[in-house]
Amino acid sequence: MSLVPDRPDAADPAEILARAIPNDRVHSGYLLTGAPASTTAAALAFARALVCEAGRGRACETCHACHSSRIGAAATGADDASVGAPPIALDGDGKRGPTYRHVGDHPALFWVARGHDDTRIKIGQIRDLQSALRLRGFESGRRAAIVEGAESMSTSAQNALLRILEEPPPRTTLVLVAARASALVATIRSRCVRVRFPAEPEVALRDPAMPAETAGIVALLDDLRGRSPGQILDAAETYRGARAEAAESVALLIDVSGAWLRERVTARVLRGERPGPRELDAHKSLLQLRRDLVQRNANPQMVAERLLFGLRDVAGDAVGKSRA
Ligand SMILES: [Zn+2]
Repeated sequence: MSLVPDRPDAADPAEILARAIPNDRVHSGYLLTGAPASTTAAALAFARALVCEAGRGRACETCHACHSSRIGAAATGADDASVGAPPIALDGDGKRGPTYRHVGDHPALFWVARGHDDTRIKIGQIRDLQSALRLRGFESGRRAAIVEGAESMSTSAQNALLRILEEPPPRTTLVLVAARASALVATIRSRCVRVRFPAEPEVALRDPAMPAETAGIVALLDDLRGRSPGQILDAAETYRGARAEAAESVALLIDVSGAWLRERVTARVLRGERPGPRELDAHKSLLQLRRDLVQRNANPQMVAERLLFGLRDVAGDAVGKSRA
């Protein structure tokens, strides 16, 4: 099995996917990385095209399969391109709600995502998917499963998914959608054809139009050097509360902190200084904190504490940039 994309330099990543179908070169695993709005829409379009009876690389919208795989706005005849947002919400964790959904009501298209109140995709969801994929009764048609937000799979869920990738059922394609590949274990990455979409635009730190929550974080980070430990604990305490919501806020804190660190490093470089070791360490810590938050289900408030104390040390170093 070749894991090399047909044309790694192809301009349009969605084309790489579309061309595989008429060329009959569909792989058993794909990893789509980049901004979630583009990757999710591309995964959906690819899955629908895989089962379309016309086999031309995009859904023909007239065959029986295309009718069953329509969802949301598309089902009411609205423009297909509007299906960019996560189209298929799950109701909660596997104990309370479904662990996967079908795309439209197509029996051979599966969609796995975090449950509404969950911070991770759980092993039970991947196990259920595995059982569903092994059922007979799909005749000769293709089957596809999309894992949306694959980076939020717990480690055990990733290991379960790896087993499907190692022994994929016939004519089955797994499409993993992730903002970043780095959160996935190397053994999964190496078994998937990587298709890169443009990344999400970075947080613009000093943009007057930035949302209030982002502006509040920037103000907090700018002011960290003068904060006492008690004040930092107070700031972290704002990330208490319902876990899913707090985790989302801490994820934003991590993103903004990454942009804030890059801004410092850039300011140093512009002044002819080298980035300090603490700044470099802080970058690595942010990656680790994100993994802890998403995969290890770490307490959001604790993650915020570790982040803020770490960045306070960075802010305490003699700074190259002028502070307004
Ligand atoms: Zn069709």
